[in-house]
Amino acid sequence: MFALRCRLCRGELTETFVDLGMSPLCESYLPADRLDAPETFYPLHVRICPDCLLVQLPAYVPGEEIFAEYAYFSSYSDSWVAHARRYATAIADTLGLGPTSLVTEVASNDGYLLRHFVERGVPVLGVEPAANVAEVARSRGVRTEVEFLGAESGRKLAERFGRADLVVANNVYPHVPDPVDFSAGLAALVKPSGLVTLEFPHLLRLIERRQYDTIYHEHYQYYSLRTAARALATGGLVVTDVEELSSHGGSLRVHARPAATAGAPSSNVKSLLDAEAEAGLHTLAGHRGFADQVFRIRRDLLDFLFTARAQGRRVVGYGAPGKGNTLLNHCGIRPDLLAYTVDRSPHKQGRFLPGTHIPVHPPERIDADRPDFVLVLPWNLRAEISTQLCHVRHWGGRLVFAIPELEVV
Ligand code: ZN
Repeated sequence: MFALRCRLCRGELTETFVDLGMSPLCESYLPADRLDAPETFYPLHVRICPDCLLVQLPAYVPGEEIFAEYAYFSSYSDSWVAHARRYATAIADTLGLGPTSLVTEVASNDGYLLRHFVERGVPVLGVEPAANVAEVARSRGVRTEVEFLGAESGRKLAERFGRADLVVANNVYPHVPDPVDFSAGLAALVKPSGLVTLEFPHLLRLIERRQYDTIYHEHYQYYSLRTAARALATGGLVVTDVEELSSHGGSLRVHARPAATAGAPSSNVKSLLDAEAEAGLHTLAGHRGFADQVFRIRRDLLDFLFTARAQGRRVVGYGAPGKGNTLLNHCGIRPDLLAYTVDRSPHKQGRFLPGTHIPVHPPERIDADRPDFVLVLPWNLRAEISTQLCHVRHWGGRLVFAIPELEVV
């Protein structure tokens, strides 16, 4: 009989974390001429391995399909660009990186991070699977190879370009369909005395802050520090330190080194593992109850939208992030409830959201239309967007957030 297997320990995936039904790929924004064509919907049924506790989405969609025409360009978010600059400056100083060093970044996107090392005269190598995004990085002077990282491609890249003093993998660890092969790739890229840093959203915050819209087909894994450490260990990497970050609603920056040079982990590692255990993340039972909270968010948002419509109030969206598409598809929200949304990225403007077919306009549209409510979809940029939209209240408009709970401000 067919059985889903855990991609970390091969245990049988018999347990559900949350089932969000069927949804199209969240980054497949539609041009107008494809609106009448059929769309492919895939399951968003997240499981948890009863043995190693890795929360994971079965690979319903192959990575090649997801990343072939990726529309996400990191440099369109001000706060993310600032975050990258701070990190680059701090780590370059700490590690004493200079003209003879090498910084390799996996999933280097449009060069949003590596360009800060280039500016300091530190040699870099970007490894980016999406060719169109890699091209943008190259045009900015960031050396970039179009490649999926795995054990074999990692070895080949290290042979051609050398091993790195610092390997960075930001917001990619959840996206890899085979974390065991990817971890071996990271280990191949780093010098024996080198450092690997990885950033990824923390499962603890996803559960606490009910960020269920960060579940989409591109996210194959949802890590606690404990499960991430288990995954890295398959590649011979040991977690030596961890920092908590506010990005993406609460992320971890994990430091890992090859086992031979790792030494003892910092006290941060122990205290974060203790916090996870306290929250129940180190038992199967501790993960139950999340599905009920997701149901509540859906009910409250739909209640709000139906009431607004019945009262003749106009609601539009702000932002067209992937997470918005999970929320809108899961709730079944279409243009009759949310007339349109706006986004700063010109790659999304003029297109339509997958599944829901909500049109995406430039942000100026909101100023011209003066709607009653603006539903902010990228809640992780709440402070930045609240500032950008502070003029909405001049015409009596209000901002709406659906997560972690419905809030009209
Ligand atoms: Zn497992």
